[in-house]
Amino acid sequence: MSTGVLGHWINGAEVPGASGRTADVYDPATGKVARQVALAGPADVERAVSAAVAAFPGWRDTALSRRTRILFEFRDLLDEAGDELAQIITAEHGKVISDARGEVARGLEVAEFACGIGHLLKGGYTENASAAVDVHSIRQPLGPVAVISPFNFPVMVPLWFVPIAIAAGNTVVLKPSEKDPSAALRMAELWRRAGLPDGVFTVLQGDKEAVDGLLDHPAIKAVSFVGSTPVAQEVYRRASAAGKRVQALGGAKNHMVVLPDADVDVAADAAVSAGFGSAGERCMAISVVVAVGQVAGPLVAAIAERARGLRTGDGRQGCDMGPLVTAAHRDRVAGYVAEGERSGASLVVDGRDVVPDADGSGFFLGPTLLDHVTPEMSVYTDEIFGPVLSVVRVDTYDQALALVNANPYGNGTAIFTTDGGAARRFENEVEVGMVGVNVPIPVPVAYYSFGGWKNSLFGDTHAHGAEGVHFFTRGKVVTSRWPGGGRTGLNLGFPRND
Ligand code: NAD
Repeated sequence: MSTGVLGHWINGAEVPGASGRTADVYDPATGKVARQVALAGPADVERAVSAAVAAFPGWRDTALSRRTRILFEFRDLLDEAGDELAQIITAEHGKVISDARGEVARGLEVAEFACGIGHLLKGGYTENASAAVDVHSIRQPLGPVAVISPFNFPVMVPLWFVPIAIAAGNTVVLKPSEKDPSAALRMAELWRRAGLPDGVFTVLQGDKEAVDGLLDHPAIKAVSFVGSTPVAQEVYRRASAAGKRVQALGGAKNHMVVLPDADVDVAADAAVSAGFGSAGERCMAISVVVAVGQVAGPLVAAIAERARGLRTGDGRQGCDMGPLVTAAHRDRVAGYVAEGERSGASLVVDGRDVVPDADGSGFFLGPTLLDHVTPEMSVYTDEIFGPVLSVVRVDTYDQALALVNANPYGNGTAIFTTDGGAARRFENEVEVGMVGVNVPIPVPVAYYSFGGWKNSLFGDTHAHGAEGVHFFTRGKVVTSRWPGGGRTGLNLGFPRND
């Protein structure tokens, strides 16, 4: 991996930035600056978008068979590069290697889904819709599109969109997070090796300035954004106002409801895995356990025992949990723990005391468990995005459901129970986009679509699956009559089909 200044990827090669602005990229496990990344200015945005504009006409008319072969090749190269990409993710994000490997595997699923693009783009055909008149539908690409991704999944989130957008005939400008920008460049190399023509995939490094440049650029036809809710909301507003198609996925506060009949060990394993995996820096992390009735006491004890046994340290050294992404983020999360305690929650496990297994001054915070959290506390209301699990105790299923449904976020949720009827009722009644039944992180497989409700997604369309194909294409319907179909003569009335 480069130790210098990472550049953009434009027309099949890494190029230095023109703005002169850069940002530090840290190794979160050591706390040291590992490299720098260029931050795009207007000239960089123009150069990147121009490459995508120039490549579009050729790519949209490239035979589907050739596009499909490139997708298959990319899929194989991605699979081969899985371990290397995992190392890159861990070095800049901090998550443990096995978790980074899992991220690559889930992204790979979307590339595999996109290999079926020939089938996915098939339209309908109706013969003799009217006398000698046939009708068929086609789906066409939009043009150059932008994908803007967050720091927490530098490989998987771009892959939710990029393979489908490219397979459908669009050209893509990816703006990765400036906190972990290396993986995007590595994926660009894989696309080139797979035979993708120059300009079809571009990486524009940067921050808000790069994002705003893409949102305002008239040549960009659609925007897929993933990040925090306030930014998602603003991106949605700005891109929509500029007339673009936009899907903006935001933050989350995911509840795991545990009913009194649940197996406590199963529920505790799930809460700890989903609460502390990736140090809680997942949009599908469980951050609130809603314990119903008498299950609360044993459940809190079981979670605490497991949390205390976790090893926090350098993700490259076989630990269970890595550091947070930056020192500022670690301090912010620690601030929430202090605030939770001040506002009356019981601090059962305090991650601020952690002794990490790492060299240097990494951005560590150990697993933290707060009990007796109430809905007005900031640890409950805010997305913390760290290894902090809050337990809210309620008496009944109805109270648990009301709590989840009153929350402004609606990304993921889970119910733990052995009662099929209760689970089915929850699935029907809960106002959340992705629901797990005894599954704590219900991230849909690639051929279904990923997306939350309420403040977790702005726009109509979810990511990947059929909705992803729909997002990156637009429909056209052709009605045709050929010579030999007979003359209809003059008819100034509105065309009828009888
Ligand atoms: P972020 O909102 O800070 O950044 C996301 C992207 O937007 C980055 O590329 C960043 O450079 C850019 N950006 C940051 N501030 C901006 C601004 N003011 N204007 C325009 N662009 C801006 O998010 P993050 O910290 O990188 O990622 C974590 C957040 O993403 C969490 O809130 C998490 O829940 C959310 N997330 C959601 C999903 C989902 O599927 N709903 C998935 C992953 C992450």
